[in-house]
This record gives sequence, C-alpha cells and structure tokens, in this order.
Amino acid sequence: DVLLNEGVEFSSLLLSKPVLEGLSSSGFQRPSPIQLKAIPLGRCGLDLIVQAKSGTGKTCVFTTIALDSLILENTTTQVLVLAPTREIAVQIHAVVMAIGSAMEGLECHVFIGGRPIIQDKQHLKKCHIAIGSPGRIKQLIEMGALMTSSIRMFVLDEADKLLEEDSSSSFQEQINWIFSSLPANKQMLALSATYPESLAQQLSRYMREPTFVRLNPTDPGLLELSIWLISCLPKVYLLSASRLPRFGNKLVCNVGGLSQDQRLEAMWKLKQYQCRVLISTDLTSRGIDAEKVNLVINLDVPQDWETYMHRIGRAGRFGTLGVAVTYCCHGEEENKMMAIAQKCSLNLKHLPDPIPPGIM
Ligand code: ADP
Ligand code: MG
Repeated sequence: DVLLNEGVEFSSLLLSKPVLEGLSSSGFQRPSPIQLKAIPLGRCGLDLIVQAKSGTGKTCVFTTIALDSLILENTTTQVLVLAPTREIAVQIHAVVMAIGSAMEGLECHVFIGGRPIIQDKQHLKKCHIAIGSPGRIKQLIEMGALMTSSIRMFVLDEADKLLEEDSSSSFQEQINWIFSSLPANKQMLALSATYPESLAQQLSRYMREPTFVRLNPTDPGLLELSIWLISCLPKVYLLSASRLPRFGNKLVCNVGGLSQDQRLEAMWKLKQYQCRVLISTDLTSRGIDAEKVNLVINLDVPQDWETYMHRIGRAGRFGTLGVAVTYCCHGEEENKMMAIAQKCSLNLKHLPDPIPPGIM
C-alpha cells in the first residue's frame, strides 16, 4: 500500500544517524509520500494533523519524529502516545523498537489494562516513550507513577477513533484529563485515517494553529516551504557547539578569508556528500550549484527579495525536498521579512520559540 518515492531516501531528510540506521535495518529505505511531507514539518516542532488512509505509513511518521527529538540521557518520559486499542499500542511499540534499534539505552513501554500495574511502575522508572490506552495512562498519572513534567510530545494515533463522539468507551473525558496534566509547552501530533468535522472541533481544543498534512491523489509528496521564527536569541547561539555535534565532522565552511583552493575543496565535499552542512555568506555562496541541499538556515533576513530567493533557491530544487528557516527579530527584521514574503508569495509559518531539540 505504501507508495514509495523514487529517488528520495530517508537520508535526505537530515535525520540523526541512529534513526537512519534503524529505518534502514527495519527495511525502510524510502519515505512514503505522507512520511516525506510530514516528517520535516514535525521535526521543526510544529503541531501536526496528519490525515492519510490506513496503510500509508503514519506510525513511522510520528515514531521517526519522536525518536529524532529524544534526549536519551534523560530517562524520564518525554513522549506520550495514546492508542485506541491494545493491539495498536503493541504494534506501535514494535515499530519504535525497530526504528530505535540503533539507539543505545532506548526505553519504550506499553501501558494497557489487563496487565499488572506493579510491572507498569517498574517500567516507568526508565521510560523515554510511553505508549498506552487512555484509561491506563490516566490511572498511572493519577497514581504519580507516570511523571508528566518532561513530556515534550503528545501523540494521538488513530485520533478519529480516540475522539469518536458516541464511542461507548468514551475516551474523550480521559484524554481531556490527560491533556490537562501535561506541560503547556509541548508538540502535538494527531494521526488519523479520516477527518470528520467533530474531530476537527475536538482537536482545536488541544492544538494551536496545527499544520494540516494530507495527501492529494495528484500529490507527488514533495514540498517546498519557507518557515520563519521570531527569536531574540543571540544568533551566534543558534550555531553554537551544543547543536552541531550531531553532524560530526560533516561540516565545512566557505566564508571570506579562505583561499580559492580551500573554497573549492569545501564545495567539492558538499557535492560528494562528504559534508552535510555548509556555512557560507552571501558573497561566497554566489554561483553555488548544489541541488540536493534540503535545509537552508538564514541567520539574518536578506537585504532584498532577490537575495532571499537566491539563498533559498537551493533548498528543494529539482524536486528534492526543501525547507528554509529564517531567523528574524521583532521589529525591523520582521518587517523586512514580511515584505519579502509578500513580494514572493511565500507560505510562511512561525516556528515555536525556543527551537525544539532535533531541528538543528
Ligand atoms: P498506517 O498507520 O498509516 O495505517 P502503518 O504505519 O501501519 O500505516 O504502515 C503500514 C505498513 O507499511 C506497515 O507494514 C509498515 O511496515 C509499512 N511501511 C511504512 N512505511 C514504510 C516505508 N517507508 N518503507 C517500507 N514499508 C513501510
Ligand atoms: Mg496507524
């Protein structure tokens, strides 16, 4: 059922190395259209409503986003996934363990009725990702066994079933209760095969400005999108050491002050995929032709729209997936960005501030 995208591989989504390894060893080489569309948006920290028929690969969407954002050293629960049935919860667990197989120390457990609660308590001592039914999860939070203070991601799988209006199981109240016990600052992902009006209304109570991701029959699954963020962080911080190690030594500079040979070497490495990150300035990026760049981060707002297009033109060229993130501060930079957006008819989205771990 999953229709795979010719030529596009998971490795082009800039996922962390262990997640890529896990995907590959689980037999997932190429993202399905819904995965290609939703994973980059989810990694940017946006709330998503992902609607696609069953069998399109939605489990892998939220599993990949969740695993990529995980801080393994912190063993308290960071991701909570609700599922409408035990079977689905168990199935999700298997996918998490498969895609997370290269993540050493990963702890993920299932919490459903009919299992001894004493065992749940034991599992919760170390549990990065908790998957469960609304009833058991509520019970565990009430007991103080499931700590919610570190939860940064809340996933509703089969949201249409979970929030069904006249379902006899009435998950709604339990889910409301669970939602109100979670930190306010979190990312929410809702995945569903259908999207009835009643679900839209329910979700609007939980999510702020969610991004709607769905497949059109003619949609090749490719995406070109500009995202921006109003941040007053010192911009140097954005490229600070703590955020870069995940790229290892796959990073090169092409900035002023380098010799011509050094610059050529940097470009050669980029084209050979020996490096994944290129740092450059407007001046040194002129004439660069690297079609497989899929994330451009602008640390400032360019002077004019031509320069903006020139910079981001490299993201998502020739049908490859691309996202551009531009950091700008309130005030003058914001106005400049708005003018560029209008001029170029850009589809801009605000990113949450601070930036979630994982995006850079
Ligand atoms: P959904 O939740 O949309 O119904 P699932 O996540 O259960 O879909 O995936 C359906 C099937 O497709 C599963 O057997 C899964 O292993 C397989 N699958 C999902 N994504 C991929 C992929 N990128 N490559 C190969 N198989 C995939
Ligand atoms: Mg599913």
